[in-house]
Amino acid sequence: MSDQPHPQDRTRVLIPAERIQARIVELAREIRADLGDGPLTCIGVLKGSFIFMADLVRALDGPVRCEFLGVSSYHGGTRSTGVVRITEDLSHPIEGHHCLLVEDIVDTGLTLDYLRHFLEGRKPASVHTVCLLDKPGRREVEVAPDYVGFTIPDEFVVGYGLDLGEFYRNLPYIAVYSP
Ligand code: 5GP
Repeated sequence: MSDQPHPQDRTRVLIPAERIQARIVELAREIRADLGDGPLTCIGVLKGSFIFMADLVRALDGPVRCEFLGVSSYHGGTRSTGVVRITEDLSHPIEGHHCLLVEDIVDTGLTLDYLRHFLEGRKPASVHTVCLLDKPGRREVEVAPDYVGFTIPDEFVVGYGLDLGEFYRNLPYIAVYSP
């Protein structure tokens, strides 16, 4: 028998796949309504946002560029270390671009705060932020994403890109993980 975690063992569905998809369509409409229909550089934060990014860019009308930033902050546990490290930089300059930073979840806010400043240093025309999930109860720095998919309570979640020890990212829904 394998000792790999099994999705049904310790998870319960918090946000079903259909609700996520419906919310992404709404978010894409809101974003285009606010930011206009010009070129938009979407910057996905790896690895957690890769599925959200893929669905969001397909829901966005108009010209979209896709970039990724590799970031490491959790090192496999369920609590943030507070240390943000860039593990993979953008592949093109974003100077003069209208940018949308695409995050999976905002928890303490340290990652979003760090990345916003990091991107602003590259002289974009603008930086807006969207996160699929927001846990406002755990903020350590005052940051508010411009667009939020769902506000959730302070529970550790997995699925739809979010992992625990690199597992569970493939679940099509968001689930609460209870050890
Ligand atoms: P922050 O810097 O806001 O504390 O955390 C941001 C990062 O921590 C997210 O991009 C995500 O990778 C990770 N994170 C925060 N909360 C959770 C959670 O409930 N589940 C998972 N899997 N990762 C989380």
